[in-house]
Amino acid sequence: MSRPLLNSALAGMGTTIFAEMSALAAETGSINLGQGFPDTDGPAELARAAADAVLAGRGNQYPPGPGVPELRQAISAHQKRFYGLDVDPDTEVLVTAGATEAIAAAMLALLEPGDEVIALEPYYDSYAACVAMAGARRVPITLRPPEFRPDLDELRDAVTGRTRLILLNSPHNPTGMVATRDELTAIANLAVERDLLLVTDEVYEHIVFDGEHIPVCTLPGMRERTVTISSAGKTFSFTGWKVGWVTGTAGLVSAVRTAKQFLTYVSSGPFQYAIATGLAMPDSFYAGLAAGLHRRRDLLAAGLRDAGFAAYSPQGTYFITTDICGLGETDGIAFCRSLPHRCGVVAVPNAVFYDDREAGQTQVRFAFCKREEVLAAAAARLRQLGR
Ligand code: PMP
Ligand code: GLN
Repeated sequence: MSRPLLNSALAGMGTTIFAEMSALAAETGSINLGQGFPDTDGPAELARAAADAVLAGRGNQYPPGPGVPELRQAISAHQKRFYGLDVDPDTEVLVTAGATEAIAAAMLALLEPGDEVIALEPYYDSYAACVAMAGARRVPITLRPPEFRPDLDELRDAVTGRTRLILLNSPHNPTGMVATRDELTAIANLAVERDLLLVTDEVYEHIVFDGEHIPVCTLPGMRERTVTISSAGKTFSFTGWKVGWVTGTAGLVSAVRTAKQFLTYVSSGPFQYAIATGLAMPDSFYAGLAAGLHRRRDLLAAGLRDAGFAAYSPQGTYFITTDICGLGETDGIAFCRSLPHRCGVVAVPNAVFYDDREAGQTQVRFAFCKREEVLAAAAARLRQLGR
């Protein structure tokens, strides 16, 4: 067979960095600060609600295509409670298999081959793959340390006649940047002026320490052109349940649903009921999530600095991006591959999230969604690096 088996759009994409690094962590018995998942499960009452749903036969057979009504109503109530948004649970909400499927379905639904998608680089790895699977071309806008702010002039210059949409992510993985109202307003104005769609990945909407999360669809002119994506994984610390959602106008949601129904059709039946319960939890739950992660951010940042890393303090998310130059290192990918063997800690190289790999060559990401004693143990191991 002369022709490669893998579709050319996916050539070179291999195994995700998260799978590679989690496998390395398991193989070497290392502390895994690579893949972003909590090492403590979410609220016991949600686990019980999921188990009860299974036992009561709720969601064990295919749930409705758009998601179970209880969850769609809970998502709508969440948008109203936190952002004052009116979202029709019947036509403006779509439940997906995590944010990952929502991103894929949005790209497949909204793009034509040859379209351009502007995305903030470094970007979450599935963006590149999904844009490619849709036959479109990604156009990166590079976020640069130490602040990782989007360069709005560069963004404006990047728009061409072929630009179909801007793919936003705030709070931003891996840098932890949280877009300000001024930045979002500039992006919104550009979208209106150039008639672009926005697809916005807000899975870390409740994990903000400095600044505030502003859904871009709340800005003037944005409701009709924004597909908003979120997920229960990070908010409720159940990343394996894979319950995500899309909100937007009926037209946008219907387009995304058309693609989504041929990807998974539906998923996570009983978990959908449990997440409906979760979304109704009191404000103190949401505040507690952010406060707990804030503390752990500061703990890990101090440990990383102590160990010789330059640590860029994230405004939100699960992640701290560091620079390894101070350790005399120049190649983040090689560094991350050797780190488990050198000191029993796993991290992720940001370079893989860049088209311009050089821009992120010395950046390494550490996840702090772990127990405090685990973070302290990782910091102690990392301190041995310089010795
Ligand atoms: N977007 C971003 C920015 C992420 O970090 C992640 C990982 N949680 C996802 C999307 C995927 O979310 P899910 O696990 O809900 O598919
Ligand atoms: N979102 C997680 C991270 O950035 C990983 C999810 C995955 O493994 N696909 O670490």
